[in-house]
Amino acid sequence: MEQIVIIGSGPAGYTAAIYAARAGYEPLVVAGSVTAGGNLVNTTEVENFPGFPDGIMGPELMERMAAQAQRFGARVVYDDAAEVSLTGRVKLVRTLGGETHEAAAVIVATGASYKELGLADEARLAGKGVSYCATCDGFFFRGKEVVVVGGGDSAMEEAVFLTKFATRVTVVHRRGELRASHIMAQRAMTHPQIEFAWHSIVGAILGETTVSGLTLVDVRDGTSRHLDASGVFVAIGHTPNSELFRGQLELDANGYIVVYGPPAPDEAGLARHQATSLPGVFACGDVVDRVYRQAITAAGTGAQAALDAQEYLEGVAADAALAAATI
Ligand code: NAP
Repeated sequence: MEQIVIIGSGPAGYTAAIYAARAGYEPLVVAGSVTAGGNLVNTTEVENFPGFPDGIMGPELMERMAAQAQRFGARVVYDDAAEVSLTGRVKLVRTLGGETHEAAAVIVATGASYKELGLADEARLAGKGVSYCATCDGFFFRGKEVVVVGGGDSAMEEAVFLTKFATRVTVVHRRGELRASHIMAQRAMTHPQIEFAWHSIVGAILGETTVSGLTLVDVRDGTSRHLDASGVFVAIGHTPNSELFRGQLELDANGYIVVYGPPAPDEAGLARHQATSLPGVFACGDVVDRVYRQAITAAGTGAQAALDAQEYLEGVAADAALAAATI
């Protein structure tokens, strides 16, 4: 039986793995088959992760975290958790590949996934001009005109990145002011290749086999207009990847895993920040965080989850020793 199984391999999962491995637990990381490394794998330069004054590319940062965890004894399997049973003392994690891992403690670090616009033709044209990842697909839009939907940091980052390829990038935002941080907003707003369609939403994505344009709707008066574009990059935020745990772990109204349990602080007055509603199950990173959602905060809660799991396992071991001594 594993002592700690970590589900997820973004900054939270790998930081939990580094801490758990250094504490001697030889954690097993179920990293995901196509999603290993989490969302940072789809990012360009990360400028705000401490320790990298010149910035670091997202995929390289994740490779380094994985290598650091493995150096201390973490094992990584590139498979997806398909089913979990977390209520008992022994937890079960079944993978798509058909393995069943038993664990004394589980750390959930499954992150969050991009949101879709929900338009009729969005799925049909996905991969044919509709994209959720400029880093992955930007290259295909060299010399073309593209649209980025959203007003947050992701949208600004994607828009600036896409200017390397596209001749014109139009940011479509539903309000008249951006949600993005000042520095990211300034970068996009002062860029000569970036234009803004304010107070606008995408009414329709047009094109038979590939995207040829969009219908933009002005939310103030309902008027619509046509915009030529070969690509639509959707960057409107994320949904927590918590469906696997619904019915077992307590989730909030938006699907984020509820942590900061157990409900009552322990004898020393300390509440365990990453404890979920079930003993022996801890959660960290974007799947619990609807406020900060930064690589560094995910890493921080990953460290906390590993420390919480360690404290739990030490308690389990102490109880077992006491029971054995009593017999
Ligand atoms: P976000 O901050 O939640 O922004 C989502 C944007 O999409 C908002 O502008 C929102 O509009 C818009 N939106 C949401 N649903 C929409 C819909 N159905 N139709 C049209 N527009 C819609 O998400 P994010 O930009 O992905 O950022 C998430 C977190 O990651 C943030 O904390 C951000 O700072 C961080 N981040 C940081 C960096 C960096 O520092 N390098 C890069 C990327 C992300 P409203 O504004 O009207 O709500």
